[in-house]
Amino acid sequence: VAAPVKLNTKRSEEIFKEAQELLPGGVNSPVRAFRSVGGGPIVFDRVKGAYCWDVDNNKYIDYVGSWGPAIVGHCNDEVNAALKAQIDKGTSFGAPCELENVLAKMVIERVPSVEMVRFVSSGTEACLSVLRLMRAYTGREKIIKFTGCYHGHADSFLVKAGSGVITLGLPDSPGVPKSTAASTLTATYNNLDSVKELFAANKGEIAGLILEPVVGNSGFIVPTKEFLQGLREICTAEGAVLVFDEVMTGFRISKGCAQEHFGITPDLTTMGKVIGGGMPVGAYGGKKEIMKMVAPAGPMYQAGTLSGNPMAMTAGIKTLEILGRPGAYEHLEKVTKRLIDGIIAAAREHGHEITGGNISGMFGFFFCKGPVHCFEDALAADTAKFARFHRAMLEEGVYLAPSQFEAGFTSLAHSEADIDATIAAARRVFARI
Ligand code: PMP
Repeated sequence: VAAPVKLNTKRSEEIFKEAQELLPGGVNSPVRAFRSVGGGPIVFDRVKGAYCWDVDNNKYIDYVGSWGPAIVGHCNDEVNAALKAQIDKGTSFGAPCELENVLAKMVIERVPSVEMVRFVSSGTEACLSVLRLMRAYTGREKIIKFTGCYHGHADSFLVKAGSGVITLGLPDSPGVPKSTAASTLTATYNNLDSVKELFAANKGEIAGLILEPVVGNSGFIVPTKEFLQGLREICTAEGAVLVFDEVMTGFRISKGCAQEHFGITPDLTTMGKVIGGGMPVGAYGGKKEIMKMVAPAGPMYQAGTLSGNPMAMTAGIKTLEILGRPGAYEHLEKVTKRLIDGIIAAAREHGHEITGGNISGMFGFFFCKGPVHCFEDALAADTAKFARFHRAMLEEGVYLAPSQFEAGFTSLAHSEADIDATIAAARRVFARI
């Protein structure tokens, strides 16, 4: 058994100590603080391709990818060149620019459900806008979401939510009015009966249903095709709007998002992360008939000073262009499958219970026997073991999401050699945790 490597994190510790006096919990987004895995966060200095370097000059193979956007590799030369050229033309117009049309056309062409799109500046904004839109369109107030799914931090979604909310044990945040929370109904993922019961008990009152078409925010959980198909049928029958939150899965699961992969078309789709290529972008889109409700085409108000800004559009356009080249998704599938198969085999060699999988460049695993079909199943995972695994992998030069309840991401920059080095590291770690 190889001895644990001592990681020098002196500068990271100093910076994070100071940050805790300046920022709540030392961070601007909770999961980054490494609360559930301990040991303190790594403070980044720079990123390139499949790698990140911390302020103590340790290098890591990165499987977080800025939580999804870095799908063509960090700090991509082509994206950078496009952004540098755009800087000289201006970073924000607050007026129409042709780049918005270019990115809109790319999205409409690729995503089956999208006939018209509105750009915003984050996934949260996309989801809260779509919430208002489903209500505006149907004239109903209640919505259904699934336990353990995360749709950003708007009040209505902080009900049995996923991501940092699970990691920190704050499923229902203080500050959300009871009346708001009351109109959010929660069902169990991969369980159609739980959805049917809610529709039956709230006849004619449900505006729509939102889900992660592949879950990343309770860890990685795949839907059955029958589940997605069933949701499509129920929503159509009940006159409710079906929303796929593809903030994480969009342009990652496949060129046309998870909806293309599974062949199920929702009414509305939210997007983020990849669509901004590392700049702050979100988007929502869908049927023209529904999107035409959005101001100024229609009465539902939604706006943004930096929405559609030329820097964000440029990064998004270049990123989608690179993803559109032959072999992009084949590469993601190949390296990611190799990674997850290798991690699972290494864990089992050393007698650890594990279950996991991938679709394209999104993967995850749980330290439990499985199978995991929903958040409730995911709770069986050994989070203490995950914490030991996470720290030990850092010491081995592998940067994983600091929570058992987050998915992992690969990029076009991850090579088979990176994957094999990661599996070798995991094998050493599994022998000692
Ligand atoms: N929806 C999903 C499925 C997400 O994964 C996230 C972020 N992880 C969001 C919405 C919120 O996006 P943002 O963090 O950009 O506000």
